[in-house]
Amino acid sequence: MTSSSMLVERLKSRLGPHKVYSDEAITLLYAREPSGLRGVAPYAVVFPESTEEVSFIVREAYRAETPLYLHGSGSSLSGSAVPLEEGIVVSFERMSSIRELSVVDGFVEAEAGVRLGELNDVLAAKGYMFPVDPASASVATVGGAVNTGAGGLRGAKYGTMRDWVLGVEAVLPDEHGTVLRLGCRLVKCRQGYDLTRLIVGSEGTLAAVTAAVLRITPLPEHVVVAAAFYERLEDLVEASVELRERGLQPLMLEFMDEPSVRAAAVMVKASGGGLEARGHLLLVALETCREAAAERLESLASMLKTSGAHSVYTAISMKEAEERGLLALRRAMYPSHVKLSWERKGVGALVYVEDIAVPPSKLLDAVRGIRQLASHYGFDLMLGGHIGDGNLHPIVAFNPRDRGEAERALSFFEDVMRLAVKLGGTVSAEHGIGVLKREGLRMELEEKGAAKALELMAKIKSVFDPKNILNPHKIVAPSSAGRREWGGGFGAWGVEGAH
Ligand SMILES: Cc1cc2nc3c(=O)[nH]c(=O)nc-3n(C[C@H](O)[C@H](O)[C@H](O)COP(=O)(O)OP(=O)(O)OC[C@H]3O[C@@H](n4cnc5c(N)ncnc54)[C@H](O)[C@@H]3O)c2cc1C
Repeated sequence: MTSSSMLVERLKSRLGPHKVYSDEAITLLYAREPSGLRGVAPYAVVFPESTEEVSFIVREAYRAETPLYLHGSGSSLSGSAVPLEEGIVVSFERMSSIRELSVVDGFVEAEAGVRLGELNDVLAAKGYMFPVDPASASVATVGGAVNTGAGGLRGAKYGTMRDWVLGVEAVLPDEHGTVLRLGCRLVKCRQGYDLTRLIVGSEGTLAAVTAAVLRITPLPEHVVVAAAFYERLEDLVEASVELRERGLQPLMLEFMDEPSVRAAAVMVKASGGGLEARGHLLLVALETCREAAAERLESLASMLKTSGAHSVYTAISMKEAEERGLLALRRAMYPSHVKLSWERKGVGALVYVEDIAVPPSKLLDAVRGIRQLASHYGFDLMLGGHIGDGNLHPIVAFNPRDRGEAERALSFFEDVMRLAVKLGGTVSAEHGIGVLKREGLRMELEEKGAAKALELMAKIKSVFDPKNILNPHKIVAPSSAGRREWGGGFGAWGVEGAH
């Protein structure tokens, strides 16, 4: 018996067979993510139900020197959730309790497997919310969001996970599977070096997060929504900047370019909803009080019209916005891109979502630059994202089996990342580094005079995880890796068989 099969047997005998699955029909499901990457099928997928069980798994994996891949819902878009070597996937699916909720103290403690959408349903009943709401909130888990440092549609106003995590309960990859409870149930809390923040965004490479203490905030009293369609993308971008200049801090400021709107409109119409969608879409939601709602909405609509919108749809409340389908197009953005790309290029085409951010004052330069690059490399571009915080998601589809096209796509993404850094931005706003952004991270740090940070990160990793068993090869590339290895990510890790 090999040490890994002995490990699987030990896990089965301690946890019970209903918590450990080694059937390939199941393990293969945990070797892929929507970025299109497919990793190596793990030996087993384990479903712990308590922190003690996670500690046991981590301790045993440490002894057997077997890689562990910590898994929320696997919705990562950066390659962070796919196993690159054989090992064990630990799914937090069954750790989905809300341990404590205090509106007086302003926190909720939730286990790693709680989905953000479900968390917000519970909080809404108390008049509260957890404001980080990735477009994937119906599936994204607390553990996954903490570890990717996720952002979302309300990012311009409320920031990202980094701003909302007060503490974590985490298991360290050492011989005891030590359980560490970091941070406080307080907004003000100093505990020396900020290890809580270090774990936020660490992509399952430092510790297994079993629960998190999250700040909560009251639901806005009232929200008004406008969906404005523009002929010229430049006008839309300028309108988003003008909103900031006027001191408005929208709860939501999202955009989709015309090809994205067209693709999403087909999908939304097919499911029976939608507006007369034509042109580029700017979606704005503003918080307000009930009495001022009508006036605020009217002045917003008039500002959007003056900025060049040819049609503006409004809703006096979030409920009305949902009923009128104002948010449906934005939600359909990613799935409609995949559907359209597969229709055009065949099932198996890789639809890659870039994730740069630039200062809002540089958005126009970024949008122009990205469109020029797409046309230079000959790709049909779809562009959208969280324009309120400068976070753009250029999307192109390519066939990973066509080496020429894949190389062109890689060059396009590299140039987009370089453009972002040149404009004072970053290569990854919210999806994380994973595999696909490792070389981008290196480039950004070198350009910003911080190349040494990579060495520090490698050292931090070895302090937390001396045997390198947690999600190996993510974030910091092995020193020998170069651009082609990053490029190899699409092919070498089995994309061609992924769909
Ligand atoms: C349609 C679509 C829309 C999206 N929109 C957004 C968006 O608006 N904003 C955004 O930020 N992201 C977005 N994403 C990306 C993704 O959904 C988020 O990054 C999300 O936070 C990942 O959560 P998850 O539970 O799926 O984590 P997974 O994908 O399972 O894991 C992500 C990373 O976290 C680690 N991890 C997971 N659980 C744990 C744990 N308990 N302990 C330690 N490490 C752990 C994994 O090892 C991996 O490195 C989108 C994805 C899709 C497919």
